[in-house]
Amino acid sequence: MKTPPFRLHRPTTIDEAVNLAADLVKRKQGFDWVSGGTDLLANYKWHINTQPHVISLASIEELTRHGAHHIGAMVRLHELEHGPTHPLLRKAAGTIASTLIRRSATVGGNLCLDTRCFWFNQTEDWRRSIDWCHKCDCDTGADCRVIPNQNTLCVATYQGDLAPCLMVLDATIHLAGPEGVRSMSIADFYALDGMTRNVLKTGEFVTHVSTPEESNDLDGDYQKLSLRESWDFPEAGVAAAWKRTDTGLSTLRIATTACESIPRIHLESAEAALVDWNGESTTIEVAEAIRREVKPVNNTYFPPAYRRKMLRVLTKRALKGTWM
Ligand SMILES: Cc1cc2nc3c(=O)[nH]c(=O)nc-3n(C[C@H](O)[C@H](O)[C@H](O)COP(=O)(O)OP(=O)(O)OC[C@H]3O[C@@H](n4cnc5c(N)ncnc54)[C@H](O)[C@@H]3O)c2cc1C
Ligand code: SF4
Repeated sequence: MKTPPFRLHRPTTIDEAVNLAADLVKRKQGFDWVSGGTDLLANYKWHINTQPHVISLASIEELTRHGAHHIGAMVRLHELEHGPTHPLLRKAAGTIASTLIRRSATVGGNLCLDTRCFWFNQTEDWRRSIDWCHKCDCDTGADCRVIPNQNTLCVATYQGDLAPCLMVLDATIHLAGPEGVRSMSIADFYALDGMTRNVLKTGEFVTHVSTPEESNDLDGDYQKLSLRESWDFPEAGVAAAWKRTDTGLSTLRIATTACESIPRIHLESAEAALVDWNGESTTIEVAEAIRREVKPVNNTYFPPAYRRKMLRVLTKRALKGTWM
């Protein structure tokens, strides 16, 4: 299918990007941000929620800054994989898509990845044949195909790998927009709706993420389930970070992805496990708690029951370093 026409804007500074966005908002012109384009342009080719304007962030040098605790939104996944950040981020980056895609794909695009659903990530003809769905309804008022009889919530799945790893490292995400700059914990960035996806306001974009100095003291691991190890999106993912002491653990954080509309940090289960930490047997208990907390729906390749069971397995694997 042909990509529909759009006007491409290429600002070279953050201020210029913000002013461009503010001007388009004022003129009531729809637009999208694009970074590597590995997600957005694939959707555009299938005529999914296209916009007349696209603002590329690729020429803004400031967004490519990459240090041990600062990751610009335009840092490519290949650079992250081989860069100076926490080993957990490097490992997760190396599992995403394929070598070729990682050369174009960026950290900002990964964090803002559109949610996915097998009723939605299809060609226009295919979607027309089922009379569309709520997320891309072509003004028909179509219902959600996964949870019918409600025209309000989209439960499409967030299938990004980096967010849960940044969550367990206690990272902060930094945004810029017409109303100024703001920062928040990455755990507060995501919104429980497959259409809004996150708390970005119109005209706002991600400039960078930062991790605290204390994250240097954390060990961690990321485990994911996907159909094929290369190329396919995660069907379930578990990130964990911890700090070992002589008597057990002093910090434990666990986050999951690819099972719900948002990546999720499991603060209560991790804190409960810390109280009476007993090595391997506690990891089995916490893995079961995570399985109970996450409720996938039937809209990705593997069935929800299997993904839930695998969350338990992945959690145990991710936590192996806490007791071995
Ligand atoms: C075959 C294939 C396999 C894949 N496998 C995986 C996988 O295993 N794991 C995984 O996590 N992803 C996977 N992806 C998805 C995607 O390639 C990556 O998530 C990639 O990091 C997206 O980055 P990008 O720069 O290309 O995003 P883009 O396509 O440029 O943008 C993605 C979305 O984010 C928005 N956006 C981009 N940058 C910003 C910003 N700075 N601020 C605000 N919004 C922004 C865009 O408007 C768009 O909605 C796969 C994609 C393909 C095609
Ligand atoms: S979850 Fe429902 S509304 Fe969302 S993309 Fe899938 S079918 Fe469409």
